[in-house]
Amino acid sequence: MKTKRIRELKANLYKTEAEVWDKRDTSQQMKDDDAWFTFEIAPHEDRCSRCGSQMRAQAIDLHLLGNRVTLHHIQLLVCPTCQHVQMPRAVEQFSKEIEATALKVGLVKQAA
Ligand SMILES: [Zn+2]
Repeated sequence: MKTKRIRELKANLYKTEAEVWDKRDTSQQMKDDDAWFTFEIAPHEDRCSRCGSQMRAQAIDLHLLGNRVTLHHIQLLVCPTCQHVQMPRAVEQFSKEIEATALKVGLVKQAA
């Protein structure tokens, strides 16, 4: 009985939302540059780039600069299906920034 009521409420909500959007003209809000939409395919970071499975987070300690800097409890993404390991883009970017800063301040020397 309760489930039926929730289903009815959801159906009414969708119907009302559809009616609102059917009556609304958004063309005035769009810039007229002959290219209405541009789509870019962005990889889903939570999906395995090899097999598409949902990735699982696994905490590790990430050592940088020859173990001079350690980032504790960094989350790596591990595929439960094919065991592929991906580093989240934010972690990868942060690691590169730390290494670049270390080079800039002379903490490490550029590899020849
Ligand atoms: Zn996989």
